[in-house]
Amino acid sequence: MRGCTEAINVVALGFARGLLQDGDEIIISLMEHHANIVPWQMAAQDSGAVVKVIPITETGELDLKALENLISDRTKIISLVHSSQILGTINPIKKITAMAHKKGIPVLVDGAQTAPHMPIDVQDLDCDFFTFSAHKMSGPTGVGVLYGKSEWLEKLPPHNGGGEMCDTVTFEQTTYKPIPKKFEAGTTSFADIISLGAVIDYHHALGMQAIADYEQELLEYGLEKLHQIKGLHILGSAPEKEPVVSFTIDGVDVKELEKYLNSEWGIAVKAGLLASQPLMKHLKVEQAIRASFCYYNTKEEIDTLTQAIETFIQKDS
Ligand SMILES: *Cc1c(COP(=O)(O)O)cnc(C)c1O
Repeated sequence: MRGCTEAINVVALGFARGLLQDGDEIIISLMEHHANIVPWQMAAQDSGAVVKVIPITETGELDLKALENLISDRTKIISLVHSSQILGTINPIKKITAMAHKKGIPVLVDGAQTAPHMPIDVQDLDCDFFTFSAHKMSGPTGVGVLYGKSEWLEKLPPHNGGGEMCDTVTFEQTTYKPIPKKFEAGTTSFADIISLGAVIDYHHALGMQAIADYEQELLEYGLEKLHQIKGLHILGSAPEKEPVVSFTIDGVDVKELEKYLNSEWGIAVKAGLLASQPLMKHLKVEQAIRASFCYYNTKEEIDTLTQAIETFIQKDS
């Protein structure tokens, strides 16, 4: 796939074409990235299905009681982010797949934020689909992964037709190759795919658990340091978080802060709506800024980040 976005689209549009009917229901959550909202809206428009949204709690966790009530006989798929790119919350996927499978409902997990940061065992999660992007894990742009259980990939119609994915072709009818070829029409971006393989090998050489442990240490340290800045508010306080911290600061234009940290300090942060407009609306936040910690960062760099923010606040006031 070209990335997480394309992977979710392949599943969503495949569902719209063959597996969704008028009045069926799709469940997503309030903390989704646009990549896990828009494709389902499109699928709903095409099929007559409706999109239902799991609310979140004060701490920024999925409201599982509400999910239980949302699941109905019409639910055809649950598609959820593994960890929110804004709140950092790690969602309890195993609990959710267990709930869903009792009713035969498949679960898609958007792993864009977790694949780079922790060991992932799709069999243990028991998810039916899992997606992620190479560029979120120090890899090239334009390549990513769609994992699917074979039973679901068999049911899903292909999104693209063309060479490589077909078996016999006549003007009347074409038969498709078995999975995964069915989803690989045309010439794939194999140079990028080979790079993705190297990136995954690199992460495994470092050790995914070692990466997770070290980044959790950075997260704890970062949270402690950032909490000390007056007027700084962190979005999401779930006990289990990925190493991303989004925040606002009273009286500070975070877009200006972003520019300042980038250009004056060489610190790469991102500010704005951070690709989840419905979540930001719910949080009543116009713009937030996000710092992400990775295995190549250090506690000294977090000290520099907080020092830079303090300097900006003083300069600004
Ligand atoms: C970045 C991101 C995506 C989209 O990834 P692309 O590489 O742009 O396709 C989807 N979901 C989450 C949670 C993300 O962080």
